This record gives sequence, structure tokens and C-alpha cells, in this order.
Amino acid sequence: MKKGQSKTKLTYERKNFWKDAPATEQKAAIEYAVEYRNYLNQAKTERETVAWTEAYLKKHKFTDIKGRKGSKKVYSIFRGRTMAMAILGTDPLSQGFNMVASHIDSPRIDLKQNPLYQDGPSEMACMRTHYYGGIKKYQWVSTPLALHGVVIKSDGNKINIHLGEEENEPVFIIPDLLPHLARKEQYSKNINEAIDASKLNLVFSGMVEPSSEEKEAAKLFALEVLNKTYGITEKDFLSAELYLVPAFKARDAGIDSSMVAGYGQDDRICAYTALTALTNANLTNPERTMIVYFSDKEEVGSQGATGANSIFIQDFVSDLMEYKGEENTSTNLRKAFINSHIISADVTAAIDPNYPNVHEKQNAVIFNHGIGIAKFTGSGGKYSCNDANAEFTAKILKIFTEAGVFWQLGELGKVDEGGGGTIAYILANLGAEVIDCGVGIMGMHSLYELCSKADLYSTYKAYQAFLTTNKLERSIP
Ligand code: MN
Ligand code: MN
Repeated sequence: MKKGQSKTKLTYERKNFWKDAPATEQKAAIEYAVEYRNYLNQAKTERETVAWTEAYLKKHKFTDIKGRKGSKKVYSIFRGRTMAMAILGTDPLSQGFNMVASHIDSPRIDLKQNPLYQDGPSEMACMRTHYYGGIKKYQWVSTPLALHGVVIKSDGNKINIHLGEEENEPVFIIPDLLPHLARKEQYSKNINEAIDASKLNLVFSGMVEPSSEEKEAAKLFALEVLNKTYGITEKDFLSAELYLVPAFKARDAGIDSSMVAGYGQDDRICAYTALTALTNANLTNPERTMIVYFSDKEEVGSQGATGANSIFIQDFVSDLMEYKGEENTSTNLRKAFINSHIISADVTAAIDPNYPNVHEKQNAVIFNHGIGIAKFTGSGGKYSCNDANAEFTAKILKIFTEAGVFWQLGELGKVDEGGGGTIAYILANLGAEVIDCGVGIMGMHSLYELCSKADLYSTYKAYQAFLTTNKLERSIP
């Protein structure tokens, strides 16, 4: 080392937001979390997130792309559970766009299609369930759950159900077995098998009509209550989508209130930061079109009409071309994706003080050090990964650094410890440059996921810097 050359110029160290960020930014981070918490309480399912987001976009002067022309701010909703929104730029879309793509479904417990039964031994009316996504079943028992979803009646009427969120509303419980009697049923089994999926039945109700002679009086009583409240019958369940989600509210966490605890932060934290990054983007005449995409079904493999594998996002870009008066040929559409830059906005695993051994600290995300960038995802020898190339990764780091964003790189866990994927590879398959960037979470997929307000805010700033940049060159002319 030459004399006078400081060691800090040669080495890399990530920065702690609370130590190094300006006081104004720290204050902004605390304030940003307030509305975020409210959002988590109002948007607990993909349908609710779409509805909440549409109302929010309308407030920010966005219009439905199928409506009146002339607006530069447009959105499109598909089947009520996936959506995309954009601020149009002056450049043709075939020269590429900047997109932040997240998902808005979260692990939960669904009611089965024919759920209601009267349990013989307990004489209670119960509901059979089928879990959705990667849950640890033991977390969902003996905890207050709320019932969210839709029932379509035979006359086509849609009933929205949202029960268990208000103080005066009942919650729903899947009771766990008492420890006194769990020796054979649970303690002799491994944690994954201790609670069988067939034992995740909800205790729904227990009252019966006075002096009822009915054999299944509790079930009948439950149906009567449902009919009085919602006008539905047992048959209406067959087509319904009813989810059980944690009934509690998102809260500040920690003695310093530096964290947010709440359900469904995977991945609504990235959806919210992307949305607000777009709506607060202060560009009067952007060159590149900015797109935010909320996909569905990520937790179960991104398949189907509303998952990231669906044609929807390509159709949205094609609609944008038409809206802008560009030729929306299939060649132009392919070019648009190949010339585009996409952040796959999904959460990653931050180091948990109780289980540091599943991470390799030098290459893992830690709280309070900013947005987590995963150059690649996947498992084992990088199987099924999207691997952002060095050129694009370097550009992303430059954009974040120039914007004063706190960032860090991190893999999801130690090599061979496990792993996971995001929708990154699906969009990369269309030829776009894609990299994973999102918030590090503790207790991911649990009922009460934990994030740092520093990372929440840094992610918002990072997405905004990315969406508004015009420094990303297209791959083909
Ligand atoms: Mn996710
Ligand atoms: Mn997930």
C-alpha cells in the first residue's frame, strides 16, 4: 500500500443506515413506515391488494388503460388479482422500459371447496382447510385468524367476506393439541409432521337451535347464521375463495420501534415500496417508461392466468404500445422486453440472531444495511436460478450509490442450506436484464414477519432511483 493511501479505499464494507444516513433520511424512514403499516392491515390478500392499489392509483391521477386516452399514468387489472401500472416515457417502448416486479400473494390457509362439517366426537361445526404456499403448519394453530375472500352466489352476485379484523368481530381458531396429551401425537414426530394437514380444521361454531332434533344441529345452525349474514348456502362454498389470514394488525416492533412486524410482508413490502416509488417519482417528462407489476401465485409456482408465467404482463406492454401510438407487433413487443431492465422485487432472508448458522454472514443480508441485492437465486449449484450478469449488476450498484441508497448483497442462505426462487427467471426468459432486489426479512412466511424500517425505506429509494434512471442502455437497436 502506498503511503497515505487509506485502507478504506481498498476494502468494501456495507454501511449501517442508522449510523451513516443523514438525520433527515432517518426521519423520513420512520415516517414512511406509518402508512406502510396501515397498508399491511388493509391489504392481506391479492384481491384486497389490487383493490387497495387501484383506489390509491386513482388518487394519484392514474387511469385505467382501457379508458380515456391522453393520460401518461395508466394501469391495468387482470381478473382482480394481478395488475400492472406505468408512467409513460417519451422513448418508444421497443427501446425498453424500467420495471419493478413483485408478487402480492402470501402463504395462508384456504378453506376447502366443501369445507363445512359437523364433527362427531366434539359435536362442533368445523371447516376443512387446504394450506397455500410454504407454511410451517405449527405456526397457524391456536392463533387468531380472520376470514377473507369472495363467494359467488348462483345468481352471479359476489359477496365479499372480511371477518375477524375489527375488535367487535369474532376470530377463528384452529386449536393446537394441549401439551399434556401431545406425547404420542406430536412429540414423537419431527416438526414438519407433528401437525398433519388434515388436522388443520377450523372450529367454526357450536350453537344449536333450542330443542333441535337435527342430527347435525351445529352445522345447520352455522349455515343459518351464514345465510342470515351473507345470504349464502352450503352450495355457495363450492366455488368460493375463502382464506384464513392472521387476524392481528401490523405493529411497530422493538424498544426503538425500528422494525415493523406484520403478516404478508413477503411480498407486499416490495409491492408497496415499488408502488410508492412510482407514484412519487418526480419526473415531468421521463424518457423511459416506468412499469410496476404485481404478480399472483408466486408462492405456488407462478403458474396460471394471474401468475408471472401468464401472458398478462406482455399483454400490458403491448397495450402500452398501442396507447402510445406505437406499432404493437410481436417483433416490437419482443424487442421491448429484450431492451428492458427489470428489478425482481422480492424479499430475502436477513440473518436471524437465533439461526446465524444457516447463513454465511459475508454474503447474507443483515437488518439496517439497506436493500438486499441477490445477483442470483436458486438452490444447490445455482440450480433454477436467474443470474444477473456482471454488467447489469454493476450498473444497478452504480445507480443505487449515486442516489445515496443504502444497499448490500446477499444470498438466501448458506450454499446447500436450502434456497428459493422468485419470478426473476420468468421475466429474464423474455430476454430482459433482471436482478433480484428486496427487503431482508426475519421469520419469512410466518404470521408475523419482521423487517427493519431502514431497509423498508432504502428499498423505496432504490426502486425510485431505478425506475427513474435513463442510464440503462438497450441491448439491441
Ligand atoms: Mn416472495
Ligand atoms: Mn414467499
